[in-house]
Amino acid sequence: MLEAELVELIRTIPDFPIPGIQFKDITTLIRDKKGFRRSIQVLAERYATLQLDAIVGIESRGFIFSAPLAYELGLGLVPIRKPGKLPADTYQVEYELEYGVNKLEIHRDAFQSGARVVIVDDLLATGGTIHAASTLVEQAGGVVEELAFLIELTFLNGRERLAHYPIFSLVQY
Ligand code: AMP
Repeated sequence: MLEAELVELIRTIPDFPIPGIQFKDITTLIRDKKGFRRSIQVLAERYATLQLDAIVGIESRGFIFSAPLAYELGLGLVPIRKPGKLPADTYQVEYELEYGVNKLEIHRDAFQSGARVVIVDDLLATGGTIHAASTLVEQAGGVVEELAFLIELTFLNGRERLAHYPIFSLVQY
């Protein structure tokens, strides 16, 4: 499968979860065996030589891509989760979503100091989620080498608020 064909596997659902949001549904991509495999392969090829120490995944849809990527690269996986899910001591940040407000947490002892990581999520919209995740990674002593997404909504200009970090996305709208 060509990388360009991945876009055809992503479904847009209008007015979900609230009116006005064009929801990018990746379930149609990940149920397709070639599409799912290809999306992980593209990321794995990109990061194979980056000398990373860990992959960071953001709950929930970020886990779908970060876990197989970490496995493929032979790296460990560090989860960033919603409040109250991580059992040991955490750092927490609050941030605004495209719809609503949210909090995220990371374990304080997630990394060795200076660990080089890529953070993975399914979609970059306004950038609030990944900005919060980057803050958590740095609080825990990690170094963000790149932010990786399946989908980027370029019209929301998420890149602008993330100017400090390299950003990679497989599909852009
Ligand atoms: P943001 O913080 O604005 O960049 O929003 C990104 C997060 O919200 C990601 O974790 C996405 O899963 C989710 N999200 C935001 N907008 C959409 C959308 N239009 N379609 C699907 N997921 C979205």
